[in-house]
Amino acid sequence: MAKKYVYFFRCGKAEGDATMKNTLGGKGANLAEMANLGIPVPSGYTMSTEMCTVYYQNKGKFPPELRTAVDKAMARVEEIMGQKFGDPANPLLVSCRSGARKSMPGMMETVLNIGLTSKTIPGLIAKTNNPRFVYDAYRRLIQMYSDVVMEKAAGIEPPEGQGIRHQLEREMQKLKDAKGYKQDTDLTADDLKELVETYKAKVQEVLGKPFPDDPQEQLWGGIRAVFQSWMGKRAVSYRRIEGIPDDWGTAVNVQAMVFGNMGGTSATGVAFTRNPATGEDVFYGEWLPNAQGEDVVAGIRTPNPLNEATRPPDPEHAHLPSLEKAMPAVYKELHAIRDKLENHYRDMQDIEFTIQEGRLWMLQTRVGKRNGPAAVRMAVDMHKEKLITAEEAVLRVTPAQLDELLHPVLDPAAEKQAQAIAKGLPAGPGGACGQVVFTASDAVEWVKQGKKVILVREETNPEDVEGMRAAEAILTARGGMTSHAALVARGWGKCCIVGAGAIHVDAHAKQLTADSTVVKEGDWLSLNGTKGVVYLGRLPMVVGSEENPYFTAFMKICDKVRRLGVRANADTPEDARKARQFGAEGIGLFRTEHMFYGKGAEEPLFKLRKMIHSKTAEERRKALDELYPHIKADIKATLEAMDGLPVTIRLLDPPLHEFVPRRDDERQRLAQSLGITMEELEARANALHEVNPMMGHRGVRLGITYPEISECWLRGIFEATAELIKEGKKALPEIMIPVTCDVSELRDQAALTKKVHDEVAAKHGMKKIPHLYGTMVEIPRAALRAGEIAQATEFFSFGTNDLTQMTYGFSRDDIGAFVPAYIDKKLIPADPFQVLDPIGVGELIDIGIKRGRATRPNLKVGICGEHGGEPNSVKFCHKVGMNYVSCSPFRVPIARLAAAQAVAEENAAKPKKGGRRVEGDK
Ligand code: PEP
Ligand code: MG
Repeated sequence: MAKKYVYFFRCGKAEGDATMKNTLGGKGANLAEMANLGIPVPSGYTMSTEMCTVYYQNKGKFPPELRTAVDKAMARVEEIMGQKFGDPANPLLVSCRSGARKSMPGMMETVLNIGLTSKTIPGLIAKTNNPRFVYDAYRRLIQMYSDVVMEKAAGIEPPEGQGIRHQLEREMQKLKDAKGYKQDTDLTADDLKELVETYKAKVQEVLGKPFPDDPQEQLWGGIRAVFQSWMGKRAVSYRRIEGIPDDWGTAVNVQAMVFGNMGGTSATGVAFTRNPATGEDVFYGEWLPNAQGEDVVAGIRTPNPLNEATRPPDPEHAHLPSLEKAMPAVYKELHAIRDKLENHYRDMQDIEFTIQEGRLWMLQTRVGKRNGPAAVRMAVDMHKEKLITAEEAVLRVTPAQLDELLHPVLDPAAEKQAQAIAKGLPAGPGGACGQVVFTASDAVEWVKQGKKVILVREETNPEDVEGMRAAEAILTARGGMTSHAALVARGWGKCCIVGAGAIHVDAHAKQLTADSTVVKEGDWLSLNGTKGVVYLGRLPMVVGSEENPYFTAFMKICDKVRRLGVRANADTPEDARKARQFGAEGIGLFRTEHMFYGKGAEEPLFKLRKMIHSKTAEERRKALDELYPHIKADIKATLEAMDGLPVTIRLLDPPLHEFVPRRDDERQRLAQSLGITMEELEARANALHEVNPMMGHRGVRLGITYPEISECWLRGIFEATAELIKEGKKALPEIMIPVTCDVSELRDQAALTKKVHDEVAAKHGMKKIPHLYGTMVEIPRAALRAGEIAQATEFFSFGTNDLTQMTYGFSRDDIGAFVPAYIDKKLIPADPFQVLDPIGVGELIDIGIKRGRATRPNLKVGICGEHGGEPNSVKFCHKVGMNYVSCSPFRVPIARLAAAQAVAEENAAKPKKGGRRVEGDK
């Protein structure tokens, strides 16, 4: 049987459905689904994504069977619509649109009004009795077609502002200026008739070819251009950023045209079934009367609000008519479709519609892009509405989206004092500061130089995608919430303000003006994307500390779903408190040496240095006695802050030479205090030098060679715990021995632990001081010998920083010189110090857990390397059966989400009875 490349659809019936995204692309699959649901969609057909691949394989040639299939499908569309493509008396016009598996807003091409020629124009005028509409449609066709088909698809790359589309726009502006018109809609039929002649002459002049006057040539030119746009610059950039594979291809949708530009009872609009910037459950959108779709999304005119509930509050928008008021019956019908679609898809939809002479047509539905706060709120609300399960809810928010809620906003106190220069639509929330640039390429360039920039544009332009990505935030003078910039920025969770009408952008002079204020390239602006306010200068930022009830509710859903525990790596009582606020269930790594860095570290550090520079055990013990009160106090404060939650306290880990003072005054003070000469101090410091300190005298090796060091730490832990318990408080330390490779080391330190425990317990009259005894697993040998090691330990914590270092043999401190090249050349998929290597390091972890639990079935296992907060690594930890992950406090919510997603994904992958399989959703 011949391959099926073309799928037909009409209201009530379609050859495809929403599950066929891989074949029909998102747009095609959803058009088919809407058709099957009986929603009014103009009839049409979809050419499959596979055809795109064939097109490229055949070097741009279409197989003959495609033409036959297209002719057949076109005949069916003609029959349904009661019109004929190319017919002089009753012509059918079609649109030709792209549609990949995953939506790529504005990145590929569209041609509308295909089929208008010198032969069909008179027929359409006679039929519609509306010459203005016909010539308006024709000028749009010439504009789009010459740009998309004759220029871009032909590989012509004119300099910025010199493209045919711009040249034609300038012709239109010239005509408007000459006639004293403000709006495109002021142009009369005669004006437009004159304009199309100017356009045709310009196309011939600039591109050296006439604009085609044959409907079939227009159709196939359009189809070819859409396939061609898959490899267009913008689309390729976007795919690279979003990680979409090149071989997916795009589908092409050819569909009967319906017109929003047929007069006052016609309109076009874009809407979201809920507010995509906040997640609020209100129907949200924008529309324009007497316009075609691209007028709304291209930000050419600032559109009207869909309804009264979502009208922007500022006076600039007060006069704009809402669809709810202007066309109440159509609005009611649209609202009913909104409800139907949301209930059917069980997710927020992004829809496009056209009203032709009072009749509503749906042109598109797709899962709507949203930012982090909106994603979280929708997941919570939809779960509460019983539209989705808890597991579905956790899959609705990506870790990056959740991260947005933990990100900085402008400091509200500073904002009150600041000078606002403009207000626009809050398209992407959060705060941002940066230096102003006016072109996408400058944005990329400046960011490469380490600067933070705000990209300012007159209107939104999908060709700016790389610059938008690089910028901290985006600001435009024109456009609405559904414009390309707003969609793309929102998808990336980027701060974005659009339609700030008070600013005038002069990209040529590289400056903007807002009233009397002039802002030049390089000046600082601060944006509040949540409110849509632009400030002059650089305002301070604060981490979004406002209590967000949806965030809290969402985290509760995650906690209900996940099985993996989540702890934090915290080294101070403040960190411990922060960790608990973020929902940590304990501390998985307390690096005690951190008390020797940072605030208040001077005294303990001096005493530690004395200990390090001691020569005899006697001297060392004396120095340790001085150090001891600091250690105990630090441990006690952190245990107290965690209020009985487990705290994994690691004994001293780093090589001692790290603490040797470098400054002369410090050395002098130290020599004095030790009663030795500077030469002697120098000699002792030199003796600590190691060739390879990462594999040198560190970790448990310090405790083996200087048991008094371990003893000091152990005493601090037991004393702090005993004191807290006697004070009526709760404390649960877990003693962790670092950098071990053999059970013998752990037995050695266990004996010491028991001795100190018994002494402290006796002193306090206690039988047992609660604690666990365990080890880090961060040397490959420890993972391999885990079976024996578990005989002497009650828990393992995988130190994947060192384990990665020693498994790869990549020095964790020196990877900058070579790992980027490995990633560039695709020799490794990612930096293994950021994303856990599941097959090498991961295999060692798997072996370690299995062997450990074979000895001790209830062995507690966690991870405390940096990977503990990286979503993919967290999912790996779930899969291999760890009890918990531990990460920095700010990453705790991300880890809780990733742990919940691990469960949800696991269950979603299980075969379901009677469920239908979806070809690559979202
Ligand atoms: C590790 O090696 O993964 C670890 C947590 O310890 P550190 O980073 O302190 O060496
Ligand atoms: Mg380590």
